[in-house]
Amino acid sequence: MTHRRSEYAAEVRAMTGESGTPPASRRAFLAGTGAVAGVAAVAALTGGPLAQPARAAEVGGPSGGYAPVPKSALGPPLNADGYFVGQIHGDLYWVTDSAYQAMFLTTTDGVVIVDAPATIGHNLLKAIGEVTRANGRPATVTHQVYSHSHSDHIGASVLFGPDVVRIGHRECRTLLLRDNDPNRPAPTVTFDDRYTLTVGGQRLDLVYHGPNHSPDTIFIWAPEQQTLMLVDVFFPGWVPWKQLAVSQDIPDWIKAQDVALSYPWQTLVAGHLGRLGTRADAELQIAYVADLLAGARHTVTSLDPTPFFKQYGDNAWAIYKAYLDAASAQIAAPVTAKYLGKLAAADVFTVDNAFTVFEFAVREDGGMQGPFGIHP
Ligand SMILES: [Zn+2]
Repeated sequence: MTHRRSEYAAEVRAMTGESGTPPASRRAFLAGTGAVAGVAAVAALTGGPLAQPARAAEVGGPSGGYAPVPKSALGPPLNADGYFVGQIHGDLYWVTDSAYQAMFLTTTDGVVIVDAPATIGHNLLKAIGEVTRANGRPATVTHQVYSHSHSDHIGASVLFGPDVVRIGHRECRTLLLRDNDPNRPAPTVTFDDRYTLTVGGQRLDLVYHGPNHSPDTIFIWAPEQQTLMLVDVFFPGWVPWKQLAVSQDIPDWIKAQDVALSYPWQTLVAGHLGRLGTRADAELQIAYVADLLAGARHTVTSLDPTPFFKQYGDNAWAIYKAYLDAASAQIAAPVTAKYLGKLAAADVFTVDNAFTVFEFAVREDGGMQGPFGIHP
């Protein structure tokens, strides 16, 4: 999935004084896009006129016409470099830039890191340095696990150098060899179903339960720390990203939520946003998706496409677009109302998520075609 929108949102929050001055990484982002002149203006405006709600609404921030983000959805504040690193349990840590997350284990033999989101980038090394200076463990990253092949989650892998042992699902290697991206070296250690990684007395179980978000997404289970890392399936405190995280197998993505709950985890590292997940977060998302599914099943049997045929004549694509748009809106309306205030951005992505549930879980993979079923 992409992240520009959330980066922009973070930028707007920073500009309007909601979270203080922009972190260094964002200053670098601005500088990198040639918006250096804007940085001084951002600093000058922090806490200034743009922070007033009336003006903020005019410029599209902080809420930009959307409902405010519930405080419960937000994580800990970032440091001046633009990251937060925290201990999960024992030698297991997580790091976030409030949009993305990575996880790492410090061991007597070196660091095992899971993922390397591009937006956290060099701050991964700073976070590891900060933790290992404090606990006396070696700071060298010796092993890296890939949750899946997507660039946004592992695009900074190159920072750990060529000698790191990289581990991923066999399909992850196939995809990365195809992509041939120097920032994402293909894993050299692969597995089909299960792999136990033991380094310096610490253990991670890597398990493949079939495709869901991507063909190669794996479950990363830290048994001693009772922590599960599963990326682009759960979005603690938030509705799922657009079209159920643009996942490639929707019925299996929906099922992956339940598979995750079959692990006895107490902490979830979901790969996105600013905080860790709880089992209550997972159950709330499962209820949200179930509500979309119920609405989609009702809509496919009740929404009459006749007016769209009359309106668009021989333009078959326009007929389908109007039908799908109307279905998505009809499914989303009660779900948005129900979850607003409980899940952040329910009013941002629920129409897109309703479309995906309707189109894949119900119509295409679900086999319910309603008015487009077998012609009498
Ligand atoms: Zn992904």
